[in-house]
Amino acid sequence: MKITFCGAAGEVTGSCYLIDTGEVRFLADCGMFQGGRDADLKNQKFPAFDPKSIDFVLLTHAHIDHSGMLPRLAALGFNGPIYTTKASLDLLKVMLPDSAHIQAKEAEWTAQHPERNHNHNHKTLPLYTLEDAESALALVETVAYEVKIQPHASVTCRFLDAGHILGSAIIEVWAGGKKIVFSGDLGQPGRPILRSPAPIKSADIVLVESTYGNRLHKNLSNTLDEFVQVIEDTRHRKHGNIIMPAFTVGRTQEILYLLIDLTRQKRLSNLKIYVDSPMALAATEITMHHTELFNPETQELFAWAQEKGQQLPDINFVQSVEESIALNDIRHGAIIISASGMCDAGRIKYHLKYNLKRPECSIVFTGFQAQGTLGRRLVDGADLVRIFGEEIPVRASIHTIGGLSAHADQAGLLDWLSHFKQPPQQTFVVHGESATAIQFSGLIRKQMNWNVAVPSANETVKL
Ligand SMILES: [Zn+2]
Repeated sequence: MKITFCGAAGEVTGSCYLIDTGEVRFLADCGMFQGGRDADLKNQKFPAFDPKSIDFVLLTHAHIDHSGMLPRLAALGFNGPIYTTKASLDLLKVMLPDSAHIQAKEAEWTAQHPERNHNHNHKTLPLYTLEDAESALALVETVAYEVKIQPHASVTCRFLDAGHILGSAIIEVWAGGKKIVFSGDLGQPGRPILRSPAPIKSADIVLVESTYGNRLHKNLSNTLDEFVQVIEDTRHRKHGNIIMPAFTVGRTQEILYLLIDLTRQKRLSNLKIYVDSPMALAATEITMHHTELFNPETQELFAWAQEKGQQLPDINFVQSVEESIALNDIRHGAIIISASGMCDAGRIKYHLKYNLKRPECSIVFTGFQAQGTLGRRLVDGADLVRIFGEEIPVRASIHTIGGLSAHADQAGLLDWLSHFKQPPQQTFVVHGESATAIQFSGLIRKQMNWNVAVPSANETVKL
């Protein structure tokens, strides 16, 4: 049996692993690379294998860096089933068409601005179309958590709750005489809305993510103190707006949860919130259709919010482009949550264009910012950034509230690994920037004495 690390090796995007047992070939995830021109080029070269040779795909969760190349796979002739959870399918139905739409827009923009096409004709052709997204969605078969399925006579799988976003899964696979565990993205235990990641007790091969393998998040109570302080300082002292770049799926709902919870605790009041992302309403509605996946605290908050007479925040889901543009006229007091989370696409770029130059405003990051993205440049302290070809001075204050991350931190990852009763025969540290993955693998070797490696991009390993 062989595994090829087609993506998320030494980086955090493009998750895709190809397993070939000799009898069957399948993928775990089929994600898009994100973050600048290198990512664009990698996406255009994807896949390095023949899509028609793949028997099936297992999908850990709906985030585009895990699912975003499924339409391309379908467009290039893949015709097998894609297994994922029901909640993930509900999210994919919104996210894959949206991804096709974003690409069509970018291709259009590049075609109209050849003088700004520094990347030598990249993005003039979209990676796939809306029809390709629909073809991929038609291949999806849903699976329940904790139920074993058999996608092939020689392969058994089981999906378990990863606590990362709605429907996210850790996947156990029995194939070629071995048990392989794909961690997918692991949530931080005790986070808002979702349950903690399911512990796993045994495996021969483990692929573990390492996004925050070198860091500890602040605890939730300090995080909330910081969050409240930034909001109150910006609204009442600086008289500006709070701009929050956030993934539409997962992060946006968590932020709304926290803002409602902080209102319930009377730590915040009279909030005026605009959620400006065409997908956000759909993603929030999907979340509300899956209350069975909520943790008990969230069920409780939900019940409170439905009681009569509660002073709830004023939450507005902005749909049309006109309404979105109208937000530019709001000078102060607004919390604007918009996508994309790493600021490399979507309406957030307009909000940054208008608010970054205003010292009274605050930009609040709550998620990981990959190398090469606009979000990363801001977090790293850029004084000047380029948005839609225009240079914008950064005068607003930039905050990173790390404790809200959808990913487990170093302690969370180690805790998840600690449930394995025996050291796996081989552990691969994936889905982390190179230095982070190497550091985290060193820690696993030292603390747990496991056989651990950091695969490089496109490396094939015999298992
Ligand atoms: Zn994810």
